[in-house]
Amino acid sequence: MLIVQKYGGTSVANVERIKAVADRVVRTAREGNEVVVVVSAMAGETDKLIGLAHQLSSSPSEREMDLLLSSGERVTSALTAIAIESLGHKAMAFTGRQMGIITDTVHTKARIERITGERARKVIEEGFIVVVAGFQGITEGEDAVTTLGRGGSDLSAVAIASALNADLCEIYTDVDGVYTTDPNIVPEARKLEKISYEEMLELASLGAKVLQTRSVEFAMKYEVPVVVRSSFNDHPGTLVTKEDAEMEKVVVSGVAYDKNQAKLTVMAVPDRPGIAAKLFKGVADANIVVDMIVQNVSSDGKATDISFTIPKTDARKALKLTEEIAKELGARGVALREDIAKISIVGVGMRTHSGVAAKMFDTLAAHRINIAMISTSEIKVSCIIDSKYTELAVRVLHDAFELEKAGSSKPGKARSAGKRKLLY
Ligand code: ASP
Ligand code: MG
Repeated sequence: MLIVQKYGGTSVANVERIKAVADRVVRTAREGNEVVVVVSAMAGETDKLIGLAHQLSSSPSEREMDLLLSSGERVTSALTAIAIESLGHKAMAFTGRQMGIITDTVHTKARIERITGERARKVIEEGFIVVVAGFQGITEGEDAVTTLGRGGSDLSAVAIASALNADLCEIYTDVDGVYTTDPNIVPEARKLEKISYEEMLELASLGAKVLQTRSVEFAMKYEVPVVVRSSFNDHPGTLVTKEDAEMEKVVVSGVAYDKNQAKLTVMAVPDRPGIAAKLFKGVADANIVVDMIVQNVSSDGKATDISFTIPKTDARKALKLTEEIAKELGARGVALREDIAKISIVGVGMRTHSGVAAKMFDTLAAHRINIAMISTSEIKVSCIIDSKYTELAVRVLHDAFELEKAGSSKPGKARSAGKRKLLY
């Protein structure tokens, strides 16, 4: 098998950890596999480099930031190759450029366009273990080094696995896999044996920080089988893969939460065409990502409230901007709430079962947790609640859907395929 193994920052945090990584890599190779390794920078290194730049300038140029940040992964790739060689196995470290990772020109969050990888293919055939510096690429024509956004080594690994047609992409981290929820909040949280790409994508974007969201999108698009597992033990981890019939039987696979959102309400907006367009164009133009939106019909045909959520880091900027737009539109004013949290339940089985959302609302109500906003997709229900109830909500939902039990469903009723898209 050709296996891509990616090791995150805590897995290469120091010389001892790098030795342990080299041991595992060589063991995998001696079991008869071809191995390509992708590494992150040592834990905390990227933040440290960002801190250094900010001591020199409040707005360092993005081109130079990319060059700076890419150095963290170069260090660990070379050290890991050295450690592998010292165990008596041939190894060669590659930067993103040497690997032929071609990206677009969007500095600090570039997208991978293609991977040439010729040199790597050749040396793999010659029996080398290739160690690639994650998180980085090079623009077409090789003018500039780019980085792929925070957590981008996951994307490097998945993209390399796809380009090399690897049989498996293993993501080594400091947790044993993907859990039904945050084990720090619910000690009974259970490690999932496998999860579908779609569910993983929802969980990743909802703040379950095991995998970078874009790496999951990429894996789903190119059907790269991914395993999330720990570099600190030999437990099997969680397989992220295509949905199968077995997964559909489980209605809710996980409970996620996100405390990094804020809610803006524009009050008494005139109820006429073009208002929402104007408001959200203004927000989008400022590069602020809107998540949930709620607008009701006005009861008197004249004015209505529009609420929406945005990342907390953009809250002040969005408030100022929205106040200006609100004034232009003749709205009464804008209210900002930062003490909110988004709680979500995720599961592909929701497509074929009813009563899931109702059960979620019922469970929250039974614990006197008020719901401020609701949004749903085919495989997810999210509620905005008071942030002080986050842990309670996670616990009671995990309990209500019996997620501590393997293969638990306790759904509503299974429905005929004809009604698949209805949630409740
Ligand atoms: N070192 C980079 C970061 O901290 C990339 C990665 O670790 O995946 O975001
Ligand atoms: Mg990471």
